[in-house]
Amino acid sequence: MSDSDRGAGAGDGKFGPYGGQYVPEVLMPAIEELTDAYERYVLDNEEGFVDEFRERLADFGGRPTPLQRADRLSERYGTEVYLKREDLLHGGAHKLNNALGQVLLAKYMGKERIIAETGAGQHGTATAMAAAHLDMPCEVYMGERDINRQRPNVFRMRLNGADVVPVTAGRGTLKEAISETMREWATNVEDTHYVIGSVVGPHPFPTMVRDFQAVISEEARGQIREKAGRLPDAVLACAGGGSNTMGTFHEFVGDDDVDLYAVEAGGSSLDVDQETGVAPNSASLSTGSEGVLHGARTKLLQDRDGQIVESHSVSSGLDYAGVGPELAALVDEGRVTPVNEDDDAALEAFHRLSQEEGIIPALESAHALAYLHSAADDLGEVVVVNVSGRGDKDLESVIEETDRRDLSNAPDMDVLEREGGL
Ligand SMILES: *Cc1c(COP(=O)(O)O)cnc(C)c1O
Repeated sequence: MSDSDRGAGAGDGKFGPYGGQYVPEVLMPAIEELTDAYERYVLDNEEGFVDEFRERLADFGGRPTPLQRADRLSERYGTEVYLKREDLLHGGAHKLNNALGQVLLAKYMGKERIIAETGAGQHGTATAMAAAHLDMPCEVYMGERDINRQRPNVFRMRLNGADVVPVTAGRGTLKEAISETMREWATNVEDTHYVIGSVVGPHPFPTMVRDFQAVISEEARGQIREKAGRLPDAVLACAGGGSNTMGTFHEFVGDDDVDLYAVEAGGSSLDVDQETGVAPNSASLSTGSEGVLHGARTKLLQDRDGQIVESHSVSSGLDYAGVGPELAALVDEGRVTPVNEDDDAALEAFHRLSQEEGIIPALESAHALAYLHSAADDLGEVVVVNVSGRGDKDLESVIEETDRRDLSNAPDMDVLEREGGL
């Protein structure tokens, strides 16, 4: 949606071997209608869509978010470290950029109802906020198990007037919730828009969601030139589905001297257990193989028989077996380097940023900060790290996980808990 993208058309949604539209026939009219709306409103700014989007991102969302020099980390690593503070966006994460864009687009399309799916509840809460802001009815599909694990987010969505619909199929988690939402969309395409939460799904979603999130790198590229007087040597972002990643990278992709690192969740191990079919990680870029999931061809965690395996990460937002097709292609081209950090390293980075910079990051973002810690010597003189969200939502799991480990730089969580401090 930057000036350079305008008038380029929506493309065909193919990124090398990845992307495409692997959807049932009944969804094709909705996909075509959406593609047409994306071209007209988002790419060509018909009826001033882009101007309204920007204004709402500023006034409701709080954009632009700062690019902040991290003084202690810069000193510690002997390199200039800048943090892109998406944790300061309304709602506490980058997800509002996309949710607001899609709900507004649905309005321009004359849709009367929003549906979305959510795993940990982050995308659901962002969508519910955007829908309330734009006065649209909203239903959020959520696995039953996730509903029980994420009470505060369920309450947030309901406070914003959304209906939270339990999905009981399968394991009752994100994968099933996405499938259920696709089915719901297929039966109500006339009046309903499905807000997908990351750069995944059938074309035009990966491209469109990237464009809504690209505001991160549009700002960051200008901000770093102003503050550091030059472009960075490296840009780091965590990758689950890949929306904050693509948003943070997009404007830098053409800058050949800027290295781009997508930091995945290494979980507890990189190996897939072939017996149980469980991958104790979510590192689809580093270890996945080609397949089709949720309407697109991409890199996936699957077993020998091509069955999607259960993923795992200490951060629920990275816990997804697939990844956006464009990001998968950028990795194959060698433009983006996939790396990963395990649960322990992410927890340590969570504590480090909290103690040294006064910023409690989301556990997802902590993976990118963990990679900064591991690789600082090799990243160059100026590094930008995207802090995709704030960590308030993670306090309970951090206490639990920290307790089970012996983390040298962590405060005594037992004491905090005993004294009811958290
Ligand atoms: C959801 C989430 C992520 C992962 O989603 P992407 O699409 O990979 O960006 C990362 N960070 C935070 C804070 C999130 O809420």
